[in-house]
Amino acid sequence: MIVLKSPPELALMRQAGHIVATVLAEIGHHVKPGVTTLELDQIAADIIAKHGAVSSFKGYIPDKTAGQPPFPGTICASVNDEIVHGIPTTRRLKEGDIVKIDVGACYKGYHADSATTFPVGRVNRYAQELMLTTQECLKSAIAVMRKGNRFGDIGAAIQRVAHGRGYSVVEEYSSHGVGRKLHEGFSLMNTGEEDRGFMLRPGLTIAVEPMINQGVAGTKVKKDLWTVATKDGKLSAHFEHTVAITDGEPEVLTILN
Ligand code: MG
Ligand code: MG
Repeated sequence: MIVLKSPPELALMRQAGHIVATVLAEIGHHVKPGVTTLELDQIAADIIAKHGAVSSFKGYIPDKTAGQPPFPGTICASVNDEIVHGIPTTRRLKEGDIVKIDVGACYKGYHADSATTFPVGRVNRYAQELMLTTQECLKSAIAVMRKGNRFGDIGAAIQRVAHGRGYSVVEEYSSHGVGRKLHEGFSLMNTGEEDRGFMLRPGLTIAVEPMINQGVAGTKVKKDLWTVATKDGKLSAHFEHTVAITDGEPEVLTILN
């Protein structure tokens, strides 16, 4: 089901987006060798509460996956080969790690969802290249999120950048509709063919989130039943924004302006 947002709904999503962006900016100042992902989780929890919002993730139970416990964290924190859905723990980040921080906040009933991959101290050039490419994948995806384009154009844009650099695109997890629910109405592959699929319309709000792997695209779920990691143990990067389709330029809701 496709849910189009009215201007007042978009205004609330903008506020949710601002909270999420504030959290990611603050976490960015704290990511360094020695910090634990649980400490980062607490920073996020404090900021979200201070803004009168709630975490979209804490207590989340997915519709489809049986047997998963409710998600225990405020944020997801996924390190190195972990792709998404990592649970914050007392693990200390170390120099050279890359950590994917995913933040969702619900403000007055409306969700926004965004993720960034942060380097911990100095990282090697392979990690740097992977992070840069994933950021470019997201940028290329947002550039085609315009009225009249189709879902397939988004996946095709991501795929073109990633495959052009010899990386693979995770296909077992996708981008998605977002708004009144964290996962609202539809999933959208991060690969695809141009001019295929549902046509983008103003009022559509999408959490677009390329997950790009250094090695194979395949994934596995760790013993905690949440953390998704690469099948081959190689690095993965993840960037995400919540974007509204408009009559003109795409509007990124999860940035600070
Ligand atoms: Mg997310
Ligand atoms: Mg998402």
